[in-house]
Amino acid sequence: MQNDPSVVATAYWHRLADGRVQCDLCPRYSKLRDGRRGLCFVGEARDGAVVPTTCGRSSGFCVDPIGKKPLNHFLPASPVLSLGTAGCNLACKFCQNWDISNSREVGTLADQASPESLARAAQRLRCSSVAFT
Ligand code: SF4
Repeated sequence: MQNDPSVVATAYWHRLADGRVQCDLCPRYSKLRDGRRGLCFVGEARDGAVVPTTCGRSSGFCVDPIGKKPLNHFLPASPVLSLGTAGCNLACKFCQNWDISNSREVGTLADQASPESLARAAQRLRCSSVAFT
């Protein structure tokens, strides 16, 4: 875990009597054996803990018009830098991003997206805001 900057420790899980660990990050409450991932494909049981595996990574970037976002009167008519990780804890049948949200390919998570590099990219692309989608 220490050598992979995209895996960070979190406190939102607990150990179960049967040896599995339960992720408490969302209402799915995934119960995982070591090496297994939850429905979101982001939370993974590793070394007896649940860790998110997408910290500082993104499946892609896009400059969108702010009007695409579910926001009301937020920086009207401005561009927004959008990014997100592969995986999702929902399972909507109508998902428009199913290839990303249901991706089980670790490579889809590969692009680096540190907070500093995102802020620099948003400035360079003249985006007034950043959206994690
Ligand atoms: S779906 Fe992901 S975030 Fe939700 S409980 Fe399962 S592992 Fe945790």
